[in-house]
Amino acid sequence: MSTPNKSEIYFHAAADHLKISDRMRTLLLTPERDVKVQLAVRLDNGEVGTFVGYRVQHDGARGPMKGGLRYHPEVDDLEVQTLAQLMTWKTAVVDLPYGGAKGGIAVDPRSLSSGELERLTRKFVDQIHDMVGPDTDIPAPDMGTNSQVMAWFMNQYQKYHGFQPACVTGKPLELHGCEGREEATGRGVVIIANRLFHQLGQELKGKTVALQGFGNVGLYTAKFLFERGAKIVAITDVRGGCANPNGLNIPKLAEYAKSNNGVQGFPESEPLDNEGLFATKCDLLIPAALGGQLTAKTAPIVQAKYIVEAANDPTTPEADEIFHERGILVAPDILANAGGVTVSYFEWVQNRSVVHWPLEEIRAKLELKMTAAFDAVWKIAEERKVPLRTAAYILGIGRVAKATELAGVS
Ligand code: NAD
Repeated sequence: MSTPNKSEIYFHAAADHLKISDRMRTLLLTPERDVKVQLAVRLDNGEVGTFVGYRVQHDGARGPMKGGLRYHPEVDDLEVQTLAQLMTWKTAVVDLPYGGAKGGIAVDPRSLSSGELERLTRKFVDQIHDMVGPDTDIPAPDMGTNSQVMAWFMNQYQKYHGFQPACVTGKPLELHGCEGREEATGRGVVIIANRLFHQLGQELKGKTVALQGFGNVGLYTAKFLFERGAKIVAITDVRGGCANPNGLNIPKLAEYAKSNNGVQGFPESEPLDNEGLFATKCDLLIPAALGGQLTAKTAPIVQAKYIVEAANDPTTPEADEIFHERGILVAPDILANAGGVTVSYFEWVQNRSVVHWPLEEIRAKLELKMTAAFDAVWKIAEERKVPLRTAAYILGIGRVAKATELAGVS
């Protein structure tokens, strides 16, 4: 086997516990398909813009592959491969009948008009429509994409394949979307945080929280934390941040951020940058923005006692080690942010059965799924005396390895 890259360190720690052979490790780590496409689109000024799109289908042993589409300038081969692999373990941790995939376009969506974004999305579908679909690989929103992008995606896909609403999830409600999909990841994060404190004999109510990111995931995480009586004392986004040791009023901040393009400058708060956020004295730190934020440099300044990873891959292995040594408990991404893919699964099931479930039913089903996953991970962590991340990987990798073995190779 070749030397593991950083993202595979977590995999091998769990694979060692499971005594997985080198050959099986190679099979589990190698993506099934890794595609990179050219996207040439007419821009509003008449010129042609050239972009690069990616789709990595990591593993389909447990079912069709599932994973988001990210529009961000830093999207590249390695990031998409890493995130596709995370999706394989994540869908297995919450026991969905899926494998893992991920895709994206290297672009800053804020630099394009709505028309340009639509043309770019449609061109991407033109390039990959024959490798995705309801039974093979189902995209969903991620950073820089939303339900509108998913609606364009579905419409373009259907031009080739006919009525197929299950080809993508995270669609608008009016176009075969699912109640509660938009809030799902943030809701799941809060279910996990709540369960974590419950297991520790504590309450989420009254806990102080520092949150990085106020987009889809960050906003709903903040909203549900606020509803449950937690005190959010610091928030940053890409433009800046705000802090108030007495707690930020989240409904007001959400309104403010909408009209002011971010949280910076919120009345009754102090300005704050990411370093200040990590160094904020609080019970719980929630990274809900980019990957790679908690590093060997930033981990030592973290003041929180607990971390719940809402973002994908926010903690480097070096930082993870530092948190372990410092006794900071980390609920890992493949467990904590699985609410989004879980409700995406509910959307896919409804689309395939042509039914529509009410919001309360979705929320109840999500609570059950996330709680069961948390409890299974917690049990492994206790039995094997390993951190929650290793326990989650043991659960996910164990399920994928078993399915791979049972199916056989021909
Ligand atoms: P989004 O684009 O809606 O929001 C991203 C947020 O991060 C924005 O508030 C942005 O201002 C902030 N941000 C960007 N750069 C920053 C920086 N340098 N410092 C501080 N804040 C910064 O994206 P999202 O959908 O909320 O996704 C956030 C994270 O959650 C990503 O890691 C994503 O992969 C992960 N995730 C998303 C979902 C989902 O359903 N959307 C599901 C699982 C995981």
